[in-house]
Amino acid sequence: MSETDNRHRVIILGSGPAGLTAALYAARANLAPLVLEGNQPGGQLTITTDVENYPGFPDGILGPALMDSMREQAKRFGAKVRFEQVTSVDFSKPLRVVQTDEGTYRGDALIVATGASAMSLGLESEKQLMGYGVSTCATCDGFFFKGKELVVIGGGDSALEEAIYLTKFATKVTVVHRRDALRASKIMQDRAFAHEQVEFIWDSTLREILGSREEKVRGVVLENVKTGEVTEFPCQGVFIAIGHKPNTGFLKGHIDMDAKGYVVAEEPTTRTNIEGVFACGDVIDSSYRQAVTAAGSGCKAAMDAERWLEAQN
Ligand code: NAP
Repeated sequence: MSETDNRHRVIILGSGPAGLTAALYAARANLAPLVLEGNQPGGQLTITTDVENYPGFPDGILGPALMDSMREQAKRFGAKVRFEQVTSVDFSKPLRVVQTDEGTYRGDALIVATGASAMSLGLESEKQLMGYGVSTCATCDGFFFKGKELVVIGGGDSALEEAIYLTKFATKVTVVHRRDALRASKIMQDRAFAHEQVEFIWDSTLREILGSREEKVRGVVLENVKTGEVTEFPCQGVFIAIGHKPNTGFLKGHIDMDAKGYVVAEEPTTRTNIEGVFACGDVIDSSYRQAVTAAGSGCKAAMDAERWLEAQN
């Protein structure tokens, strides 16, 4: 690859709603952005099934189909999309240098939209049934569990928030926590303890989720960590709420991040502490984490990058 081939006006890292919306806007601004998709093209929505809360789709849309449409829309206006994973960056030079598993790229501006990943327990059954009764997002999937009995794994604010939210749909929600004390804030604990549809199983870990893609979830196998007792617990859905992790390992030491590894943006803009580097979507947001908020944030990043590039001329 020649020096000129690998130079781009805007390079976008990530291909979820934030990255692809940034690509759409940057492409329509004639910046011919390069999108480096990462190892999960389309991002977290590609591991969900129906998306019913993205505006414009009254009958809902499958997550992978929505992301394919976003990619096509960005490409139609000149975005180039490559299935490559960024391994390192160098912001010490006038141009922002990005190293992938296949080559080196230099960008006048860079947009980081690498998202976050819901932490998982690492069980085979959890992986198999993700999107088939197992979820990491109550706001996205709670609606599909009307009249069901659910289990939420975790003991932090997310677990309790999800548990309480899920009672809108489920008849009963049981929070399974590995200790006998919650990590969640006092106010969330009070709310959850007072809720008549929320119950708790303490000192227990999830050993396995029972079910299949055809029949969906029919129960879980729990282990009491104090007694070693293993029991089956019937339920029709499992929400894993043990935290999220921003995908920023490759940025460590190169850009300002908070204690949890989220990139710090100068709100309300998407500027970071590095000139010409912008960040958008879940990689800067531990709070909302919605496709539509990520898309909005991606739009802002492209506009910020465009304005910044114009100011350089
Ligand atoms: P968190 O505070 O890190 O809590 C994660 C929970 O999952 C902990 O209870 C932890 O158990 C448990 N856990 C972690 N790994 C596990 C494993 N392998 N097996 C079983 N359990 C496991 O994460 P979070 O609840 O997502 O919250 C993240 C941040 O966002 C927090 O600062 C939180 O306050 C904030 N937040 C706030 C709100 C709100 O204010 N409404 C809502 C959501 C999140 P241990 O306790 O034993 O470590």
